[in-house]
Amino acid sequence: MGDRIDFRDGRWVVPDRPVIPYIEGDGTGPDIWRASQRVFDAVLTKVSGGKRRVEWLEVLAGEKAFKQTGNWLPEETLEAIRRHRVAIKGPLTTPVGGGIRSLNVALRQLLDLYACIRPVRYFAGVPSPMREPEKLDVVIYRENTEDVYTGVEYAAGSPEASRLLAFLRDQFGAKIRDGSALGIKPMSRFGTQRLVAKAIEYAIKTRRPSVTLVHKGNIMKFTEGAFREWGYEVAREKFAGNTIPETEAGKGKGDTGKVVIKDRIADSMFQQVLLRPEEYAVIATPNLNGDYLSDACVAQIGGLGMAPGGNVGDGYAVFEATHGTAPKYAGLDKVNPGAVILSGAMMFEELGWTDAAEAITRGLSGAITARSVTYDLARQMPGASEVSTSRFAECIIEHV
Ligand code: NAP
Repeated sequence: MGDRIDFRDGRWVVPDRPVIPYIEGDGTGPDIWRASQRVFDAVLTKVSGGKRRVEWLEVLAGEKAFKQTGNWLPEETLEAIRRHRVAIKGPLTTPVGGGIRSLNVALRQLLDLYACIRPVRYFAGVPSPMREPEKLDVVIYRENTEDVYTGVEYAAGSPEASRLLAFLRDQFGAKIRDGSALGIKPMSRFGTQRLVAKAIEYAIKTRRPSVTLVHKGNIMKFTEGAFREWGYEVAREKFAGNTIPETEAGKGKGDTGKVVIKDRIADSMFQQVLLRPEEYAVIATPNLNGDYLSDACVAQIGGLGMAPGGNVGDGYAVFEATHGTAPKYAGLDKVNPGAVILSGAMMFEELGWTDAAEAITRGLSGAITARSVTYDLARQMPGASEVSTSRFAECIIEHV
């Protein structure tokens, strides 16, 4: 029925009826997905008069896949996502004890999803620990393929660690304690520059005033320090007409109409997002810094229940909520579907369906302002009425 999304000359080519694979997820996933799909379909009908519609294609992963196929992550799922390029997923159970391949790792490797994108913005009425949570409105671009998370590490006392340790001592005079565990932190110009370029392109496209490179280059000079250098370099070489370094922007920052490129040391950035959040719009950062910073920022605007995310490469993207399966509420039609719904908004924005993305955000804001919210928000919002997952979806649609 539907058509395939394509990617040509660095741009998405999106038909009116794209096929988009989805993984409903484990635990509360089915409740959340049902509500989310209703919102997506209703919003598209509303903004396009029925012209645009997604042909949803279910693909299996996690417990449902295991029950039906004996495989936690069937090859057909990876193949369908590769074929259709863009997918959305609910949370998946990670069985304790391991043994199964992580879907996120498999997809990241297969599709080279090098940017982990986390928009963090406040919705009026959501309980937050901050006095002025609305001042934080950032989109975090976290590098997804390099840095210490690549998993090149060796256990203390292992033959690999012992040999590497001896090599580093003998060849380079490195001072490392006997019996240490060792981890490698690879960071490349290529990996850094494609991530920073993506962040800058986003800032230009959405008219955001700045991109901040967050690094720990004062200590790790050749990895994190290089991230900073390579970041400024790609801004200069690829986006000279559209960007300006903070040092040259002078007092009238932002007045030039260009995207201001700044950098901050990671530890200081944690203070900055608390004390001067309005000075930051887009953040580009290596993997580990981004991991910490994303959750810290999300906590400021009211927590993980509303935090969407996307893993994006060139011509491939997978969107997902950042919370887990909340298994104790499975099947109760109770939890907040906001994160998957906002992940869908991100997906539509990425595909150029900005009207749908804006409508979803409007609907969600409206439902929260009207104080018809799921239990997690209701318990913290005096006077709010608690509604079910499915009713919350209806409230969102009513407020589009
Ligand atoms: P979790 O599923 O995120 O749930 C922890 C708590 O967060 C819940 O008990 C609930 O708090 C709250 N919560 C999470 N999602 C919510 C929602 N949509 N609406 C309202 N409240 C929500 O974390 P977990 O219990 O540590 O992990 C459960 C499973 O999910 C594990 O197997 C884990 O590996 C997996 N996981 C998957 C992903 C993923 O696929 N992306 C991410 C993280 C974890 P209250 O009980 O206080 O109301």
